[in-house]
Amino acid sequence: MSQPDQRRGEGARGDGEPDVVCAAPTCRRAPSRGLLCAADADQLGQWLADFAADWRQLDATPTSATSGGGRGGGLASHRAPARLDVLVLTDPRSRPRDDADPDGNGARSLPEVLGSWASTVREDMGTPGTERYDVQADRAFLAAALSRWIVHRDYVDELFIDVRDVWAQLKAATGQSAGPRPVRACPTLAGQPAARCNGPVWLDKDAAWCGHCGTAWSGFQLVRLLREKAA
Ligand SMILES: [Zn+2]
Ligand SMILES: [Zn+2]
Repeated sequence: MSQPDQRRGEGARGDGEPDVVCAAPTCRRAPSRGLLCAADADQLGQWLADFAADWRQLDATPTSATSGGGRGGGLASHRAPARLDVLVLTDPRSRPRDDADPDGNGARSLPEVLGSWASTVREDMGTPGTERYDVQADRAFLAAALSRWIVHRDYVDELFIDVRDVWAQLKAATGQSAGPRPVRACPTLAGQPAARCNGPVWLDKDAAWCGHCGTAWSGFQLVRLLREKAA
């Protein structure tokens, strides 16, 4: 159970760090809640809590951003790009684009990400349930299992990244902002040839997200992001 995750081979912790550090990416604090430090365990719990209201807000968002297209009746090409992001985010059939997108900023399906983690955890606990996508039920289950089970399992690092990424996408898709102004322009590179996103990066507590592409930052990546801004 204390072994590093076998499914991820990038050696994120292979740079001379002490053996026992928090499992959250780039965190160098000592673990104190299972394999996570207290700050990252709290952060993960906060993201899972945020889904409840944010998902309801997304449900209430009209599916067409243009005044001319009737609700739900517009062709995809008539929708604003942001609405297409929402569709990807809400469609359980959307597939992760990890292979083509090593930075992890490809759009993911929130029901798929939360649903597959909920069933992974249920199976791991020996209580498999029915396979279905129910964002609120899966979110509540993961939140309830977080401190007594998930933080002790060696897949918590992957779960942390997945939850953070869909959290940021959901913040972006619901048009949420925090603070009087963005903390910087998004440096994420995308497309061929690669170009900077330059979307507004919003900071909320210990995590940040891009309001345009939905990229997320936390921990040391966030510290570096804010430090780079000054350069
Ligand atoms: Zn940590
Ligand atoms: Zn961006």
